[in-house]
Amino acid sequence: MHFHIITLFPESFDSYLAESIIGRAIKSKLIKISFYNPRDFVTGKYKKVWPDGNVSRVVDDRPYGGGPGMIMRAEPVLKAVDKALSKISKTKSKKPKVKIIFFSPSGKMFDTEYAKTTAAKFTDVIMISGRYEGIDARVQKILKPEDISIGNYVLTGGELPAMILIDCMSRQIPGVLGNFDSREEERVSSPEFYTRPEVLEWKKKKYKIPEVLKSGDHKKIEEWKNSKK
Ligand code: SAH
Repeated sequence: MHFHIITLFPESFDSYLAESIIGRAIKSKLIKISFYNPRDFVTGKYKKVWPDGNVSRVVDDRPYGGGPGMIMRAEPVLKAVDKALSKISKTKSKKPKVKIIFFSPSGKMFDTEYAKTTAAKFTDVIMISGRYEGIDARVQKILKPEDISIGNYVLTGGELPAMILIDCMSRQIPGVLGNFDSREEERVSSPEFYTRPEVLEWKKKKYKIPEVLKSGDHKKIEEWKNSKK
């Protein structure tokens, strides 16, 4: 599975994705993540070369009709998506199946079911992370992506939503979790877990694990787990 992330802040992904299970999945090539920064696709009057040689590339502009904040311009975003699409079409391995996701607080609510079906159906997922007030709506009119929200709250950018989708979809890919069955949704599980020691001492009080978990009686243990759900 190849994730293609359109973002102004690719570095913000680095530390999270390098760790633990997702880091290992990337190293073992079970998943791949590529970044496309709209800033790299800024041309014309929005690109300015200063006398000292510095280049500024402006990705945003004021909203038509007024209002607070700035809007990400459509063109650099569309060009970044085009770059991702051409990269996908150049990968010669089996026929790519591409999904384009546009992050929006008013989009369809993301959940495990969505992660499962998307991970099963597609080889390449392009995710468009916005910043500021959001992205010029013509990006949606042109690309017709699926609008996805990760929850009923507004964030400052689409980078955390992209990481959440990468994390959640990756664990649906066989081999990413050490033990595929450890996926919560696939087994008889409980929201309560215990490990060593059997008796935990904390601030002069003792906390024991539930007796049934030591019983070795698997039927009783399953019943206990189910009762906790
Ligand atoms: N002015 C917009 C907020 C934009 S937030 C509004 O009120 O609707 C800036 C960016 O953060 C968005 O483009 C989107 O990419 C991302 N974002 C913020 N909250 C989000 C959420 N709950 N789910 C998905 N993406 C979100």
